[in-house]
Amino acid sequence: MARVAIVTGGTRGIGAAISLALRDRGHTVVANYGGNDEKAKAFTAEHGIPAYKWDVGDHEACIAGCKQVEQDVGPVDILVNNAGVTRDGTLHKMTFDDWNEVMRINLGGCFNMAKATFPGMRDRGWGRIINIGSINGQAGQYGQVNYAAAKSGIHGFTKALAQEGAKFGVLVNAIAPGYIDTDMVAAVPEPVLEKIVAKIPVGRLGSAYEIARGVAFLASENAGFITGSTLSINGGQHMY
Ligand code: NDP
Repeated sequence: MARVAIVTGGTRGIGAAISLALRDRGHTVVANYGGNDEKAKAFTAEHGIPAYKWDVGDHEACIAGCKQVEQDVGPVDILVNNAGVTRDGTLHKMTFDDWNEVMRINLGGCFNMAKATFPGMRDRGWGRIINIGSINGQAGQYGQVNYAAAKSGIHGFTKALAQEGAKFGVLVNAIAPGYIDTDMVAAVPEPVLEKIVAKIPVGRLGSAYEIARGVAFLASENAGFITGSTLSINGGQHMY
């Protein structure tokens, strides 16, 4: 059945692949983004998926943005919390702003977007929320106390909200990607990346589409008995 889906950070990287995978399965998709107008414009021009700009770390902006989306395309049935940022550094170099920005966007964004969409899903008796966590939220990562804490928080958030949503037909799951070939990973210095790839049993980075297909499955009717779970898609790097 065709549904309305919103994908945060849905105009590039993993989010763009998710937007396309859901659209290809017949859903009406809207892609949110944070600031890269050029990428968003190009994405909409190429794929015909509308892009809406707001900061997912801004609570009021999420409420207003989702209200606008609902007026434009109808009630949101599927929420994919994908938007995320990194501000890496070891603890002694990490500033409070580095900490706060990552918590505000990566974890706060999930809360803000769920507040904007979960009540409607619950009232209508059907909904899917899929949160993009990370292998580094499961296993930790040097230089990422902010990111690992936010992503680990997403996994807890998922299990708690799954318990609240289940009896109303709202299923909440997470995907924990390993290292995926996107702009975020392109920012990792080459020697560090080589060491990371050496630790991935399948011997390569993942592709955004390999994450997107997992999201499309969790959003589908086939996943009707799955809630509160985390699907690890990481080439065997962390078996959790
Ligand atoms: P990218 O850096 O390629 O893209 C990030 C996306 O998030 C962009 O669309 C960006 O919008 C959006 N975004 C950032 N900040 C905000 C904000 N405040 N409000 C709204 N949107 C925002 O990241 P990836 O595609 O690599 O990652 C996507 C998700 O997957 C993230 O949550 C990331 O943490 C997670 N992940 C990625 C892994 C990887 O290896 N790449 C591994 C594990 C998890 P804009 O284009 O406007 O800047």
